[in-house]
Amino acid sequence: MIIVMKHNVQEEQITAVITKLQEAGFQTHLSRGTERTIIGVIGDERILTDKISLEVIPGVERVLPILEPYKLTSRTFKPEDTVVQVDNLAIGDKKIHVMAGPCAVESREQLLEAAFAVKEAGATVLRGGAFKPRTSPYVFQGLEEEGLKLLAEARELTGLRIITEVMDIRSLPLVAEYADILQIGARNMQNFILLKEVALTNKPVLLKRGFSATIEEWLLAAEYIVAGGNPRVILCERGIRSFETYTRNTLDLTAVPVVKYLSHLPVVVDPSHGIGKWRFVAAMSRAALAAGADGLLVEVHPRPEEALCDGPQSLKPKTFAIMMEELRQIARAIQREL
Ligand code: PEP
Ligand code: MN
Repeated sequence: MIIVMKHNVQEEQITAVITKLQEAGFQTHLSRGTERTIIGVIGDERILTDKISLEVIPGVERVLPILEPYKLTSRTFKPEDTVVQVDNLAIGDKKIHVMAGPCAVESREQLLEAAFAVKEAGATVLRGGAFKPRTSPYVFQGLEEEGLKLLAEARELTGLRIITEVMDIRSLPLVAEYADILQIGARNMQNFILLKEVALTNKPVLLKRGFSATIEEWLLAAEYIVAGGNPRVILCERGIRSFETYTRNTLDLTAVPVVKYLSHLPVVVDPSHGIGKWRFVAAMSRAALAAGADGLLVEVHPRPEEALCDGPQSLKPKTFAIMMEELRQIARAIQREL
Protein backbone atom coordinates (compact mmCIF):
# COMPACT_ATOMS: atom_id res chain seq x y z
CA MET A 1 0.00 0.00 0.00
CA ILE A 2 1.01 3.62 -0.20
CA ILE A 3 0.60 6.37 2.34
CA VAL A 4 0.05 9.81 0.87
CA MET A 5 1.20 12.49 3.26
CA LYS A 6 -0.47 15.88 3.59
CA HIS A 7 0.75 18.82 1.56
CA ASN A 8 2.17 20.67 4.56
CA VAL A 9 3.55 17.57 6.30
CA GLN A 10 6.41 18.05 8.74
CA GLU A 11 9.61 16.02 8.75
CA GLU A 12 8.96 14.59 12.24
CA GLN A 13 5.56 13.36 11.09
CA ILE A 14 7.12 11.48 8.17
CA THR A 15 9.71 9.95 10.47
CA ALA A 16 7.01 8.95 12.96
CA VAL A 17 5.02 7.08 10.30
CA ILE A 18 8.11 5.31 8.94
CA THR A 19 9.25 4.30 12.43
CA LYS A 20 5.83 2.91 13.30
CA LEU A 21 5.71 0.84 10.11
CA GLN A 22 9.25 -0.44 10.41
CA GLU A 23 8.67 -1.44 14.02
CA ALA A 24 5.68 -3.45 12.83
CA GLY A 25 7.98 -5.29 10.38
CA PHE A 26 7.21 -3.42 7.16
CA GLN A 27 9.65 -2.28 4.49
CA THR A 28 9.18 1.37 3.60
CA HIS A 29 10.21 3.48 0.66
CA LEU A 30 10.03 7.25 0.79
CA SER A 31 9.27 9.21 -2.38
CA ARG A 32 9.44 12.97 -2.30
CA GLY A 33 7.63 14.37 -5.30
CA THR A 34 7.21 18.03 -6.15
CA GLU A 35 3.56 17.81 -5.11
CA ARG A 36 3.37 15.17 -2.42
CA THR A 37 5.46 12.92 -0.23
CA ILE A 38 4.48 9.27 -0.52
CA ILE A 39 5.55 6.35 1.64
CA GLY A 40 5.42 2.98 -0.11
CA VAL A 41 4.85 0.08 2.26
CA ILE A 42 5.56 -3.60 1.65
CA GLY A 43 4.70 -6.41 4.01
CA ASP A 44 1.81 -8.49 5.22
CA GLU A 45 -0.94 -5.93 5.34
CA ARG A 46 -3.13 -8.18 7.48
CA ILE A 47 -0.89 -7.10 10.37
CA LEU A 48 -2.38 -3.65 10.07
CA THR A 49 -5.69 -4.67 11.53
CA ASP A 50 -7.32 -1.42 10.59
CA LYS A 51 -5.77 1.04 8.23
CA ILE A 52 -7.86 3.73 9.89
CA SER A 53 -5.30 3.81 12.68
CA LEU A 54 -2.71 4.95 10.12
CA GLU A 55 -5.00 7.55 8.70
CA VAL A 56 -5.32 9.27 12.06
CA ILE A 57 -1.57 9.75 12.45
CA PRO A 58 -0.77 13.44 12.07
CA GLY A 59 0.45 14.32 8.61
CA VAL A 60 -1.21 11.35 6.85
CA GLU A 61 -3.72 12.24 4.19
CA ARG A 62 -4.73 8.89 2.69
CA VAL A 63 -3.85 5.20 2.75
CA LEU A 64 -4.29 3.44 -0.58
CA PRO A 65 -3.74 -0.14 -1.71
CA ILE A 66 -1.38 -0.87 -4.63
CA LEU A 67 -3.70 -2.68 -6.99
CA GLU A 68 -1.03 -4.01 -9.34
CA PRO A 69 0.39 -7.46 -8.51
CA TYR A 70 3.90 -6.04 -8.77
CA LYS A 71 4.52 -3.55 -5.99
CA LEU A 72 8.08 -2.25 -5.67
CA THR A 73 8.44 -1.90 -9.43
CA SER A 74 5.16 -0.01 -9.85
CA ARG A 75 4.84 3.72 -10.38
CA THR A 76 2.19 3.79 -7.70
CA PHE A 77 4.82 2.74 -5.20
CA LYS A 78 7.52 5.06 -6.50
CA PRO A 79 6.23 7.89 -8.70
CA GLU A 80 9.63 9.28 -9.71
CA ASP A 81 11.86 7.66 -12.35
CA THR A 82 14.57 5.33 -11.15
CA VAL A 83 18.05 6.11 -12.39
CA VAL A 84 20.37 3.12 -12.36
CA GLN A 85 23.93 4.19 -11.75
CA VAL A 86 26.59 2.11 -13.51
CA ASP A 87 29.74 3.72 -12.17
CA ASN A 88 29.59 7.20 -13.70
CA LEU A 89 26.79 6.35 -16.16
CA ALA A 90 23.26 7.24 -15.10
CA ILE A 91 20.78 5.02 -16.94
CA GLY A 92 17.25 6.40 -16.95
CA ASP A 93 18.36 10.01 -16.71
CA LYS A 94 18.37 12.67 -19.44
CA LYS A 95 21.20 11.06 -21.38
CA ILE A 96 20.31 8.11 -23.58
CA HIS A 97 22.83 5.27 -23.31
CA VAL A 98 23.68 3.05 -26.24
CA MET A 99 25.08 -0.38 -25.39
CA ALA A 100 26.66 -1.88 -28.49
CA GLY A 101 28.97 -4.64 -29.59
CA PRO A 102 28.93 -8.15 -31.01
CA CYS A 103 26.36 -10.77 -30.14
CA ALA A 104 29.17 -13.01 -28.92
CA VAL A 105 32.79 -12.41 -28.01
CA GLU A 106 34.61 -14.43 -30.67
CA SER A 107 38.23 -13.31 -30.51
CA ARG A 108 40.43 -10.55 -29.10
CA GLU A 109 40.75 -8.92 -32.50
CA GLN A 110 36.99 -8.99 -33.18
CA LEU A 111 36.05 -7.64 -29.77
CA LEU A 112 38.60 -4.84 -29.65
CA GLU A 113 37.77 -3.72 -33.17
CA ALA A 114 34.08 -3.57 -32.27
CA ALA A 115 34.80 -1.89 -28.92
CA PHE A 116 36.88 0.95 -30.35
CA ALA A 117 34.37 1.49 -33.15
CA VAL A 118 31.30 1.72 -30.94
CA LYS A 119 33.12 3.94 -28.47
CA GLU A 120 34.14 6.28 -31.28
CA ALA A 121 30.54 6.49 -32.45
CA GLY A 122 29.28 7.40 -28.96
CA ALA A 123 28.26 4.17 -27.23
CA THR A 124 28.90 4.12 -23.48
CA VAL A 125 28.57 0.39 -22.82
CA LEU A 126 30.11 -2.55 -24.69
CA ARG A 127 27.94 -5.64 -25.13
CA GLY A 128 29.22 -9.13 -25.85
CA GLY A 129 28.10 -12.60 -24.84
CA ALA A 130 30.60 -14.99 -23.28
CA PHE A 131 27.95 -17.56 -22.31
CA LYS A 132 25.49 -17.83 -25.20
CA PRO A 133 21.97 -19.28 -24.98
CA ARG A 134 21.86 -20.92 -28.42
CA THR A 135 18.80 -22.67 -29.78
CA SER A 136 20.95 -25.50 -31.18
CA PRO A 137 23.50 -27.36 -29.07
CA TYR A 138 25.68 -27.84 -32.17
CA VAL A 139 26.59 -24.20 -32.70
CA PHE A 140 29.08 -21.86 -31.00
CA GLN A 141 28.26 -21.61 -27.31
CA GLY A 142 30.59 -18.77 -26.33
CA LEU A 143 34.17 -18.42 -25.09
CA GLU A 144 33.04 -18.47 -21.45
CA GLU A 145 35.74 -17.22 -19.05
CA GLU A 146 38.14 -16.36 -21.86
CA GLY A 147 35.38 -14.15 -23.31
CA LEU A 148 34.90 -12.42 -19.96
CA LYS A 149 38.62 -11.70 -19.78
CA LEU A 150 38.55 -10.16 -23.24
CA LEU A 151 35.61 -7.98 -22.21
CA ALA A 152 37.57 -6.80 -19.18
CA GLU A 153 40.53 -5.99 -21.40
CA ALA A 154 38.28 -4.04 -23.78
CA ARG A 155 36.91 -2.08 -20.80
CA GLU A 156 40.44 -1.30 -19.71
CA LEU A 157 41.46 -0.08 -23.16
CA THR A 158 38.34 1.91 -24.08
CA GLY A 159 36.83 3.01 -20.77
CA LEU A 160 33.48 1.54 -21.85
CA ARG A 161 31.42 -0.29 -19.21
CA ILE A 162 30.55 -3.89 -20.09
CA ILE A 163 27.31 -5.84 -20.21
CA THR A 164 27.24 -9.60 -20.64
CA GLU A 165 24.71 -12.37 -20.16
CA VAL A 166 24.56 -14.63 -17.14
CA MET A 167 22.76 -17.87 -17.99
CA ASP A 168 22.64 -19.76 -14.71
CA ILE A 169 23.47 -19.60 -11.03
CA ARG A 170 26.51 -21.83 -11.54
CA SER A 171 28.35 -19.21 -13.59
CA LEU A 172 26.93 -16.17 -11.76
CA PRO A 173 29.87 -15.58 -9.38
CA LEU A 174 32.30 -15.67 -12.31
CA VAL A 175 30.22 -13.42 -14.59
CA ALA A 176 29.58 -10.98 -11.73
CA GLU A 177 33.33 -10.67 -11.18
CA TYR A 178 33.72 -9.18 -14.66
CA ALA A 179 30.43 -7.57 -15.69
CA ASP A 180 29.34 -4.02 -14.95
CA ILE A 181 25.77 -4.95 -15.91
CA LEU A 182 24.41 -8.49 -15.73
CA GLN A 183 22.13 -9.36 -18.65
CA ILE A 184 19.31 -11.83 -18.07
CA GLY A 185 18.29 -13.18 -21.45
CA ALA A 186 14.77 -13.52 -22.81
CA ARG A 187 14.86 -17.29 -22.30
CA ASN A 188 15.65 -16.83 -18.63
CA MET A 189 13.18 -14.07 -17.79
CA GLN A 190 11.18 -16.46 -15.64
CA ASN A 191 14.09 -18.44 -14.23
CA PHE A 192 13.03 -17.44 -10.75
CA ILE A 193 15.98 -19.10 -9.02
CA LEU A 194 18.36 -17.07 -11.17
CA LEU A 195 16.35 -13.89 -10.55
CA LYS A 196 16.57 -14.45 -6.79
CA GLU A 197 20.28 -15.04 -7.06
CA VAL A 198 21.05 -11.88 -9.08
CA ALA A 199 18.99 -10.02 -6.49
CA LEU A 200 21.70 -10.89 -3.98
CA THR A 201 24.47 -9.32 -6.05
CA ASN A 202 25.12 -5.60 -5.97
CA LYS A 203 25.26 -5.41 -9.77
CA PRO A 204 22.86 -3.61 -12.09
CA VAL A 205 20.71 -6.12 -13.95
CA LEU A 206 19.30 -5.73 -17.46
CA LEU A 207 16.21 -7.91 -17.62
CA LYS A 208 15.10 -8.83 -21.12
CA ARG A 209 11.47 -9.47 -21.82
CA GLY A 210 10.69 -13.12 -22.56
CA PHE A 211 9.45 -13.55 -26.10
CA SER A 212 6.10 -14.80 -24.93
CA ALA A 213 5.85 -12.77 -21.75
CA THR A 214 3.13 -10.23 -21.07
CA ILE A 215 4.11 -6.87 -19.65
CA GLU A 216 2.70 -7.94 -16.29
CA GLU A 217 4.79 -11.14 -16.24
CA TRP A 218 7.87 -9.10 -17.16
CA LEU A 219 7.29 -6.62 -14.33
CA LEU A 220 6.69 -9.49 -11.91
CA ALA A 221 10.03 -10.97 -12.97
CA ALA A 222 11.64 -7.58 -12.24
CA GLU A 223 9.81 -7.58 -8.90
CA TYR A 224 11.70 -10.76 -7.91
CA ILE A 225 15.00 -8.90 -8.29
CA VAL A 226 13.91 -5.73 -6.53
CA ALA A 227 12.08 -7.58 -3.74
CA GLY A 228 15.17 -9.75 -3.31
CA GLY A 229 17.18 -6.66 -2.43
CA ASN A 230 18.54 -5.32 -5.72
CA PRO A 231 16.74 -2.18 -6.93
CA ARG A 232 19.13 -1.62 -9.85
CA VAL A 233 17.01 -3.13 -12.60
CA ILE A 234 16.89 -1.98 -16.25
CA LEU A 235 14.14 -3.45 -18.42
CA CYS A 236 14.83 -4.40 -22.03
CA GLU A 237 12.22 -4.91 -24.75
CA ARG A 238 13.68 -7.26 -27.38
CA GLY A 239 10.71 -8.38 -29.44
CA ILE A 240 7.99 -10.94 -28.91
CA ARG A 241 6.72 -13.88 -30.95
CA SER A 242 3.88 -13.14 -33.31
CA PHE A 243 2.45 -14.72 -36.47
CA GLU A 244 4.86 -12.67 -38.57
CA THR A 245 7.76 -14.61 -40.03
CA TYR A 246 9.50 -12.00 -42.20
CA THR A 247 11.05 -10.45 -39.12
CA ARG A 248 12.77 -12.54 -36.43
CA ASN A 249 10.46 -11.20 -33.73
CA THR A 250 7.92 -8.41 -33.51
CA LEU A 251 9.52 -5.50 -31.72
CA ASP A 252 6.85 -4.37 -29.30
CA LEU A 253 7.47 -0.65 -29.08
CA THR A 254 4.06 -0.22 -27.49
CA ALA A 255 5.69 -1.69 -24.39
CA VAL A 256 7.95 1.34 -24.00
CA PRO A 257 5.38 3.99 -23.06
CA VAL A 258 3.23 1.40 -21.31
CA VAL A 259 6.03 0.15 -19.07
CA LYS A 260 7.21 3.68 -18.39
CA TYR A 261 3.67 4.47 -17.27
CA LEU A 262 3.31 1.38 -15.09
CA SER A 263 6.82 1.31 -13.66
CA HIS A 264 9.55 3.71 -12.58
CA LEU A 265 12.35 1.48 -13.92
CA PRO A 266 14.44 2.53 -16.94
CA VAL A 267 13.56 0.86 -20.24
CA VAL A 268 15.95 0.09 -23.07
CA VAL A 269 15.18 -1.42 -26.46
CA ASP A 270 17.09 -4.09 -28.37
CA PRO A 271 16.14 -3.52 -32.01
CA SER A 272 18.65 -6.14 -33.26
CA HIS A 273 16.88 -9.19 -31.80
CA GLY A 274 13.58 -7.35 -32.10
CA ILE A 275 13.62 -7.32 -35.87
CA GLY A 276 16.52 -9.64 -36.72
CA LYS A 277 17.64 -7.90 -39.94
CA TRP A 278 20.38 -5.22 -39.89
CA ARG A 279 18.65 -3.16 -42.59
CA PHE A 280 15.82 -2.21 -40.25
CA VAL A 281 17.78 -1.70 -37.04
CA ALA A 282 18.30 2.05 -37.48
CA ALA A 283 14.61 2.73 -38.13
CA MET A 284 13.60 0.76 -35.04
CA SER A 285 16.26 2.51 -32.97
CA ARG A 286 14.94 5.92 -34.01
CA ALA A 287 11.40 4.83 -33.21
CA ALA A 288 12.48 3.44 -29.83
CA LEU A 289 13.99 6.75 -28.77
CA ALA A 290 10.97 8.65 -30.01
CA ALA A 291 8.78 6.29 -27.96
CA GLY A 292 10.67 7.17 -24.81
CA ALA A 293 13.35 4.49 -24.41
CA ASP A 294 16.19 5.34 -22.06
CA GLY A 295 18.73 3.43 -24.09
CA LEU A 296 19.43 0.86 -26.79
CA LEU A 297 21.19 -2.49 -26.96
CA VAL A 298 22.54 -2.94 -30.49
CA GLU A 299 24.59 -5.67 -32.14
CA VAL A 300 27.64 -4.42 -34.02
CA HIS A 301 30.25 -6.69 -35.64
CA PRO A 302 33.33 -5.64 -37.62
CA ARG A 303 32.55 -8.32 -40.23
CA PRO A 304 28.95 -9.50 -39.86
CA GLU A 305 29.39 -12.02 -42.69
CA GLU A 306 31.92 -13.88 -40.55
CA ALA A 307 29.98 -13.67 -37.27
CA LEU A 308 29.55 -16.90 -35.33
CA CYS A 309 26.23 -15.65 -34.00
CA ASP A 310 23.56 -13.23 -35.24
CA GLY A 311 25.48 -11.87 -38.24
CA PRO A 312 22.31 -11.03 -40.24
CA GLN A 313 21.14 -8.55 -37.61
CA SER A 314 24.55 -7.03 -36.81
CA LEU A 315 25.47 -3.56 -38.00
CA LYS A 316 28.88 -2.80 -39.46
CA PRO A 317 30.74 -0.11 -37.51
CA LYS A 318 30.20 2.45 -40.25
CA THR A 319 26.44 1.89 -40.42
CA PHE A 320 26.33 2.09 -36.64
CA ALA A 321 28.14 5.44 -36.67
CA ILE A 322 25.69 6.86 -39.24
CA MET A 323 22.78 5.63 -37.15
CA MET A 324 24.20 7.29 -34.04
CA GLU A 325 24.31 10.63 -35.87
CA GLU A 326 20.63 10.27 -36.78
CA LEU A 327 19.79 9.31 -33.22
CA ARG A 328 21.46 12.46 -31.92
CA GLN A 329 18.93 14.48 -33.87
CA ILE A 330 16.03 12.49 -32.40
CA ALA A 331 17.49 12.94 -28.91
CA ARG A 332 17.67 16.68 -29.43
CA ALA A 333 14.09 16.82 -30.63
CA ILE A 334 12.84 15.14 -27.46
CA GLN A 335 15.04 17.20 -25.12
CA ARG A 336 17.39 14.38 -24.35
CA GLU A 337 21.09 13.84 -24.95
CA LEU A 338 23.05 11.11 -26.61
C1 PEP B 1 21.57 -11.47 -26.87
O1 PEP B 1 21.44 -10.33 -26.41
O2 PEP B 1 22.54 -11.81 -27.58
C2 PEP B 1 20.50 -12.47 -26.64
C3 PEP B 1 20.73 -13.77 -26.64
O3 PEP B 1 19.31 -11.88 -26.47
P1 PEP B 1 17.85 -12.51 -26.11
O4 PEP B 1 17.99 -13.10 -24.75
O5 PEP B 1 16.99 -11.29 -26.14
O6 PEP B 1 17.50 -13.48 -27.17
MN1 MN C 1 22.44 -11.98 -30.36
